[in-house]
Amino acid sequence: MRMTGTGIGQGVATGPVARMPEPLATPADVPSTLGVEAEKTRTLESLGRVARALEERGAKAGGTARDVLEAQAMMAEDPTLADSIDDLLGQGKTAERAVSEAFAAFRDQLAAMGGYLGERAADLDDVAQRVIADLLGVPAPGVPERDEPFVLVARDLAPADTALLDLDKVLALVTSDGGPTSHTAILAREKSIVAVVGVLDALSLTDGETVVVDAAVGAVVSEPTEEEVTAARTRIAERAALVDAPATPGALADGTAIPLLANLGSSKAAKAAADGGAEGVGLFRTEFLFLDAGGSAPTIDEQRAHYIELLEAFPGKKVVVRLLDAGADKPLEFLNDAHEENPALGLRGLRALRVSEDILREQLTALAEADKVTSADLWVMAPMVSTVEETTYFVTLAKELGLKTVGVMVEVPSIALLADKVMAEADFASIGTNDLTQYTLAADRLLGSVAAFQDPWHPAVLRLVGEVGAAGARAGKPVGICGEAAADPLLAVVLVGLGATTLSMSPSALADVRASLSRYTLDEARRFADIALAASGAAEARAAVTAAVASRKEN
Ligand code: PEP
Ligand code: MG
Repeated sequence: MRMTGTGIGQGVATGPVARMPEPLATPADVPSTLGVEAEKTRTLESLGRVARALEERGAKAGGTARDVLEAQAMMAEDPTLADSIDDLLGQGKTAERAVSEAFAAFRDQLAAMGGYLGERAADLDDVAQRVIADLLGVPAPGVPERDEPFVLVARDLAPADTALLDLDKVLALVTSDGGPTSHTAILAREKSIVAVVGVLDALSLTDGETVVVDAAVGAVVSEPTEEEVTAARTRIAERAALVDAPATPGALADGTAIPLLANLGSSKAAKAAADGGAEGVGLFRTEFLFLDAGGSAPTIDEQRAHYIELLEAFPGKKVVVRLLDAGADKPLEFLNDAHEENPALGLRGLRALRVSEDILREQLTALAEADKVTSADLWVMAPMVSTVEETTYFVTLAKELGLKTVGVMVEVPSIALLADKVMAEADFASIGTNDLTQYTLAADRLLGSVAAFQDPWHPAVLRLVGEVGAAGARAGKPVGICGEAAADPLLAVVLVGLGATTLSMSPSALADVRASLSRYTLDEARRFADIALAASGAAEARAAVTAAVASRKEN
């Protein structure tokens, strides 16, 4: 049987399934026999133990995992949660029950916020389970232990589990829940683990049965034939050879240089990306810096230190920093706390920054100061620009504050259609295909029920990319791609054919895209682009280009 979900990366794996144990049962609502004070002490000790254990795991794991686990440790000791647990204990409930109820209420609030914060609800569930297990004196639910490598199948993985996954044992991850921005997906990308998330039927897989997991097409095959297993093994060997190959600069078969850059969310990941062959940074998302700062914007000094750490990892190389993109899937209350019916169409990105121009000015100032003391080639760009007037506003302000190279993200169809006028004002454009697809197809990028529309192969999206590529060529200015589309090895070739001059992606995708580009000339890339543009839908475009590639191989 073939099940489908969202594949993360291009990997393939095959092996026996190991199912993640089901979560603990909800503690019964029976009155405490120990008394309020004894329950309070138990709870406090347990929360502390779990917080310390999470911190320890974080310290051991390092990287993004450490940040995530530290955030979870803070959840365990959150004062608002402690207050509501205390209230429940005061009503005579057991520690287990009070923890369960308080965390569940908090979780529901978080889930209702949707977007980035909504996806953190799973983190909170995990902390609650750990505390309850600790109170009960049973082991915390977690990754099963096996002697042989396995494909881990779970509802969703908590960061505490993904952080310490034994990569020699876990061949692949398959989850029934979770979207492309869930922690499982983010960490799988970072650690290059083969993963398919959001596979609705995943929990029908049983312990020990063999499966083939193909992230490139987002498929999980249960009871595979011998030929399917052999084909998977061949691809695994081919990919291993690819990853081990030296990281040369991105280029087409005819030598046309297409620099391959990294998408980063934290300066801590910068060095690893540089070591992994990234030729620079094509998108540095600054939201995480602001989300981590809690309820207010980080100071100029804090920001400058962070930007310096980033720029120092890429001496002499290009680093494109995106100004804060708050709103919709990345809500930040201090910028916009108004209730909006359609936040993706609301006061977000540059619109929100313009209303709080002091925050925009501070960020630009911190960037200009970091630029002065480092040797990287710093470019800055604004998110969610939708008019030429906004382009002029941003470019003028950023230059006034000392930035040299200033561009805009193309994420809204209006600005792609006016690309000539935009390119006259900006030094460069970078196309965010995630949002450009969302807005072109009018399909919320976070909503599972319309996920099928969120496909950057759609010719309507590609035509807009082509408009920007052509305008860039006419103006002699660079056009980058920094959405997930650039990480799809075949689509990357089409995007170059449409005029993209650089591609930026999760560092784990670089090797596959580098190999794919090296197979085709610029003329071929342009021919594939024409084929995709002529298709009537996303599936047709993908199929037509795949067929063109196959017939080229035969000839
Ligand atoms: C995009 O929209 O394609 C993009 C790169 O930005 P983000 O995914 O952060 O919205
Ligand atoms: Mg975007």
